[in-house]
Amino acid sequence: MLEQGTISIHTENIFPIIKKSLYSDHEIFLRELISNAVDAIQKLKMVSRAGEYSGEIGEPEIQIAIDKDKKTLSITDNGIGMTAEEVKKYINQVAFSSAEEFINKYQGGSEQPIIGHFGLGFYSSFMVAQKVEIDTLSYKEGAQAVHWSCDGSPSFILEDSARTTIGTTITLTLQEEEQEYSESARIKTLIKTYCDFMPVAIKMDGEVLNKQRAVWRETPSSLSQEDYLEFYRYQYPFQEEPLLWVHLNTDYPFIINGILYFPKMKPDVDVTKGQIKLFCNQVYVSDHCEEIIPQFLLPMRGVIDSADIPLNVSRSALQTDRTVRKIGDYIAKKVGDRLKELYRDNREQYINTWKDLGTFVKFGVLNDEKFKKQVEDIIVFRSTYQPTTQPSTATPAVEVQSQEGDVWQDVASADTPKLPYTTLKEYLERNKERHENRVFYATDEAVQTPYIELHKNQGLEVLFMDSFIDTHFINFLEREYQDVKFTRVDSDLDSTLLDQDKAGEIVDPKTNKTKSEVIKELFEKALNKPKLNIRTEALKADDPQGTPPAMVLLPEFLRRMR
Ligand code: ADP
Ligand code: MG
Repeated sequence: MLEQGTISIHTENIFPIIKKSLYSDHEIFLRELISNAVDAIQKLKMVSRAGEYSGEIGEPEIQIAIDKDKKTLSITDNGIGMTAEEVKKYINQVAFSSAEEFINKYQGGSEQPIIGHFGLGFYSSFMVAQKVEIDTLSYKEGAQAVHWSCDGSPSFILEDSARTTIGTTITLTLQEEEQEYSESARIKTLIKTYCDFMPVAIKMDGEVLNKQRAVWRETPSSLSQEDYLEFYRYQYPFQEEPLLWVHLNTDYPFIINGILYFPKMKPDVDVTKGQIKLFCNQVYVSDHCEEIIPQFLLPMRGVIDSADIPLNVSRSALQTDRTVRKIGDYIAKKVGDRLKELYRDNREQYINTWKDLGTFVKFGVLNDEKFKKQVEDIIVFRSTYQPTTQPSTATPAVEVQSQEGDVWQDVASADTPKLPYTTLKEYLERNKERHENRVFYATDEAVQTPYIELHKNQGLEVLFMDSFIDTHFINFLEREYQDVKFTRVDSDLDSTLLDQDKAGEIVDPKTNKTKSEVIKELFEKALNKPKLNIRTEALKADDPQGTPPAMVLLPEFLRRMR
């Protein structure tokens, strides 16, 4: 037997489900109704632009009114309105949106996207309302104003209305247990949260409640540094200024807009919890971008706005969604590009912010293979290297062309002594002869100064790997550069050996070697040099016992340094 047909749905059964489980959060009904109002206003602009409406377009606005006695909340817009036919089509039919039809017809010339999509938003009002009324007048010539009301059962009443202004008023009579939505403070908070950046003024008691300007949707070239900073301060008040930002805006192969800021990195940042806000067409969606952006970007702040991120799906579905994965890759790529651009175009700022940026970059390199490939050449380390041309001390930050042709940045600041920064590649290249593929690094400048000086005196360059993430990063470098030996400046030299008073003490009974002999050998070994040639002429004269120079120098030198 073969039978084909259409599955039928009984509205009596499905209606309570829509009302109760459409969205987990009751409060979003306001976001949905206001989105519809914004769309209605945008649509009126579009038909007017298309020449189908020549009447007056007033200042677009959405009015919120609360009547505590009647327990009502109403939302009024001066948008496109609806005819009786449209109410029947778009309201009486659940899950029927006019958005697609409308966009197809009036596409083009619209800078502001239509928010609606699924045709479900309106029904979210029944989560909080026992009765919903629509009072509306369409912009269409000769349209009759209509009044629709529904008490939450699948039956409705549609009748003529005396309304004379174009637009729509939605009035909710709130359920007993949802009276919180008749509190103006609650409504104001909700509008701040969800509707702050919607492009139409939302007013209550004569006061405009939303900011409206969504800088992230503007063209980067039209924005000033101050615009970006102002937005950051607005979103993250009383916080340190961001170091750098990336403005995302693309239309293809997906639509995404946003601004991501690099904040100062603190050792105590919780890198598992994002602070980036997710928007969809300027409507706030959530504070959670963990499923969308790669984990290493979570310390960033800012906004991501994309209509291509599916919103009504589970977190795990989001993570495996192909578009979402592509968006994540795109964002990571953009962030890497921005860092490379700064490295290339403004080395001074790059170095100045490296202490914070570096932590972020290293974190990314440790966690993301693609990002690693992108930025590995712009990871820099502070170094003891002395470029042949020293920058003048009068200018705190200047670029100096060293003999190798590298660009050196010498930055003086309170917590960073005047030292150049170098990439590992430059370091290895520069020290090819002398170091034989060794990298000497210091992890704690204060404690390791004697060792650092010791190396410097041997003409050996030391890199500082002293940020809190460097412990992990050194392990990574060791894996990455298998043929390079990474040696911590003090690793072969036991500090107890450096006690000057006991320099002559025999420490190795098997060979009868003294402490200073052992140090010398260790050091020679560390340098991989058969002979250690130390500048000791001056010291030699001071040495009453006439001990061979090297034997004296190490402990003596270290004592002086201490
Ligand atoms: P969506 O917004 O996804 O299209 P909704 O359920 O929120 O779905 O709304 C259904 C339809 O009802 C809209 O597409 C629109 O045609 C109409 N509508 C809802 N609210 C308004 C309004 N304030 N003004 C004009 N039309 C509206
Ligand atoms: Mg809607």
